[in-house]
Amino acid sequence: MTQNTVNPGTLYVVATPIGNLHDISQRALDVLSNVDIIACEDTRHTNRLLSAFNIKNKTISLHDHNERQRQEQIAQMLVQGQSVALVSDAGTPLISDPGFHIVRHLRGENLPVVPIPGACAAIAALSVSGLATDRFSFEGFLPSKSAARQAVLSNVAHEPRTMVFYDAPRRAIDTVQDIVDVLGGDRQIVIARELTKTFETVHANSAQNILTWLQQDANQLKGEMVLIIQGAERDPDAIPPEAIATLQLLLDEMKPKKACAIAAQIHGVKKNALYQYALDMK
Ligand code: SAM
Repeated sequence: MTQNTVNPGTLYVVATPIGNLHDISQRALDVLSNVDIIACEDTRHTNRLLSAFNIKNKTISLHDHNERQRQEQIAQMLVQGQSVALVSDAGTPLISDPGFHIVRHLRGENLPVVPIPGACAAIAALSVSGLATDRFSFEGFLPSKSAARQAVLSNVAHEPRTMVFYDAPRRAIDTVQDIVDVLGGDRQIVIARELTKTFETVHANSAQNILTWLQQDANQLKGEMVLIIQGAERDPDAIPPEAIATLQLLLDEMKPKKACAIAAQIHGVKKNALYQYALDMK
């Protein structure tokens, strides 16, 4: 069923393709054709997309540098009953793209904001990565400088969830070298490059093997990529931080043996491990 109408006074957050134009949804085309105006990260880029689908509509820019000024202007348009679409250059707006400030502003004003879902590189990559998808964290862009990148990687070294990053393939060798140095060469990673495009490549292996592969094939350093890192394996003997917090509270009130027994029962951890921890704390 095609719904080719738009509601007045509504902002539509419209996902656009990340490469293959056929990934645009019918609903996205309907909205882009029928709204009063389209706010775009880059009007020239979006006008090329619109002309590929024979859509003629008005566009205005909305990017990192003018978003806060535009938000009031767009709020006014909505109050006056106009409908507006928000698009970025590719994929889902707001996901490492402009749009957060305006959506937060409009929500604060109780004005309607409607998603038109579609492509998102992070989710597309995750869906074919073969890494755990039950819990994951989206980490956005990795820093371009090695020291800052290593700091980010150290911070997530014990993160048990699958981690999804955006990064530039031209930095891929340096990035994967940092992963080997900080997280170890055995950590499984996935490089998803040029998704939905001619040279789409999804490669999964240990960080060390991916590093060797990248060093041997300069073609893998072109285009756009998503980097996915397997979450850290849980150490079965590790004491969860909640158990340590409970133990610390109890130790102020009672003898270590009793405190460890109670904390162990509450958190389902080994009493002896807690007792050893309490001894080490002294
Ligand atoms: N909002 C977009 C989304 O929903 O995916 C992301 C925008 S962000 C500025 C651009 C980054 O997304 C790229 O540097 C790359 O990491 C990733 N990306 C976008 N298109 C991609 C593609 N076709 N293949 C792999 N990664 C892509």
